[in-house]
Amino acid sequence: MSLSQGRQYLAIPGPSVMPDRVLQAMHQPAPNIYEGGLIELTKRLIPDLKNVARTEGHAAIYICNGHGAWEAAIANVLAPGDKVLVLATGRFCEGWGEMARNLGVEIDTLNFGRQGTIDLDQVRAHLKSDPHGKIKAVMAVHVDTSTSVKNDIDALRKTIDASDHHALLMVDCIASLGCDEFLMDEWGVDIMVTACQKGLMTPPGLGFVFFSDRAAAARNAMKRVSSYWDWKPRINPELYYEYFCGTAPTHHLLGLNEALTMISEEGLDHVWRRHSQIAQAVWAACEAWGNGGPMKLNIENPALRSNAVTAITIGAPYGKQLRRWTEHEAGLTLGIGLNMSTPDDPNGDGYFRIGHMGHVNAHMIMGTLGSIQAGLIALNIPHGPGGLEAAAHVLAK
Ligand SMILES: *Cc1c(COP(=O)(O)O)cnc(C)c1O
Repeated sequence: MSLSQGRQYLAIPGPSVMPDRVLQAMHQPAPNIYEGGLIELTKRLIPDLKNVARTEGHAAIYICNGHGAWEAAIANVLAPGDKVLVLATGRFCEGWGEMARNLGVEIDTLNFGRQGTIDLDQVRAHLKSDPHGKIKAVMAVHVDTSTSVKNDIDALRKTIDASDHHALLMVDCIASLGCDEFLMDEWGVDIMVTACQKGLMTPPGLGFVFFSDRAAAARNAMKRVSSYWDWKPRINPELYYEYFCGTAPTHHLLGLNEALTMISEEGLDHVWRRHSQIAQAVWAACEAWGNGGPMKLNIENPALRSNAVTAITIGAPYGKQLRRWTEHEAGLTLGIGLNMSTPDDPNGDGYFRIGHMGHVNAHMIMGTLGSIQAGLIALNIPHGPGGLEAAAHVLAK
């Protein structure tokens, strides 16, 4: 008998759970976009955004998803013929690099596979082999949502600097912002892109580009930048519509403002620690289940795992069966394996991911893990005992 009636839970790595407070803040008639409250709200919201990124630099808001934020960042500092170094640790940085290539940018790619992090020695060697500084920017992801690896951005910047290279550091924090600790200024990131539908708990539709003065100077040296993506008017608008190059994303701003208020009420440090503890509960359960079955965390070293998402190998067809079971029998939607395919598993049926980003608390994660365990039992998937017990012990700490 299906037990899926009740509140549905989307535990995929974005879009994440929308808090009721965010939905209620959006449930309003259309506000005036020429004067009044919305304009004040937009001005107030920008410092809150910068606080979540831990930056005193600039923040531009776009009506788009994460891919749009990628293109916005590229459009402001890279022209056809420029060269970038792409540090691929899964699907996402590869995708960002491909987008740059499609805009005429030359890309060098170092690929670290589906289980690894960035090898800084290779980065150093590559930058050393570019004595004339032709590489204009290094592109990396903080958390690659496909593999769930977390890259050390602080160390990456130090490596670039130690190689005496002047490349801009461009980082994708779409999965990690508001989940994993990220210190834009302290770590020396020049450009950071993110979107609203993961750690920022707002329905998909807003992309953000944060940037340093160095990146602003690189923008100013460009021959031309497309009007829509140009970040210049957006950070210093004379008229309200210039924030968005057109009509404001009215209801998304209302929702985002509420989400940012929730983050500041909780405190960003607490938000990071909550994500960390919840992630550890997920790992503890998966490790116990894996002790006696095919389940395995994709990233072996806990220090390299994201607190926002966990990618799991379970073998085909178990991954797909389990996702189907939790969705139809328990009302829980798990994430698909993304770009994890091997020749014997071309559809990624042997993988799944748990999104634990944003509005997730202890009982939600225990519900997720409990539903997964019920699925393992129902489907006769071999697994070790004590998964829920192990997770509960982590949460009890
Ligand atoms: C989700 C995600 C993206 C893509 O964002 P969209 O909103 O789907 O365009 C890019 N990079 C990372 C790391 C992501 O997690």
